[in-house]
Amino acid sequence: MKSRLVAVLLALLAGAALSFTAPASADVAAADGCYTWNRTLGEGASGEDVRQLQIRVAGYPGEGGVLALDGQFGPGTKAAVTRFQQAYGLGADGVAGAQTFAKLYELQDDDCTPVNFSYGELNNCNSDWSGGNVSAAQAKANALVSMWKLQAMRHAMGDRPIVVNGGFRSVACNNAVGGAPASRHLYGDAVDLGAGSQGFCALARQARHHGFAEILGPGYEGHDDHVHVAHRSGQFWSAPSCGI
Ligand SMILES: [Zn+2]
Repeated sequence: MKSRLVAVLLALLAGAALSFTAPASADVAAADGCYTWNRTLGEGASGEDVRQLQIRVAGYPGEGGVLALDGQFGPGTKAAVTRFQQAYGLGADGVAGAQTFAKLYELQDDDCTPVNFSYGELNNCNSDWSGGNVSAAQAKANALVSMWKLQAMRHAMGDRPIVVNGGFRSVACNNAVGGAPASRHLYGDAVDLGAGSQGFCALARQARHHGFAEILGPGYEGHDDHVHVAHRSGQFWSAPSCGI
């Protein structure tokens, strides 16, 4: 946030000094410590800037949905952007422009994590994300997507803190805690949630709306004391004590 303000000021100064015909626009000059979008994005757009947007609205796919992070702005991305805009009281047109980007800048730290979650929280196994079933970079990237899903879920539940008890595990860490051999914790996208003020069942139910294809909770073997949310191919939800 600080770097963004500084960048805006510098850009304004540069614009004033260099150009008499094209006054600097705060919209165009807005920069962020993590990532800055340089154009309005709507249906039909494609590219890395679309993918960066998709990561940040991955928590808004609608119930049971999972947003593809493919860099192609299709109907699913439009719907997710619309839900994000509605969630924050912005004009909900499904087009990502200055207002939407400003909200995303406000919601992200300079390391690209959403403001209420951190890489450290999602990895109490090691410090370099190595030793899982994917590369360290991939595990960390997967964790980032899960954090944005959790940020959406947190906001939908009244912005109360969500308790994170762990996430990524190397094979060694997974074996040490008796994790399943194919556990999503080995991929970095699984997160184990504590009861917090919401309670397990409310968390498990809400998670269905935020892009988690895997939800395990009370009543599922080994999950009476936490709710596990993750990505996976196909949907697997089981928390029988919560009616899921
Ligand atoms: Zn788990």
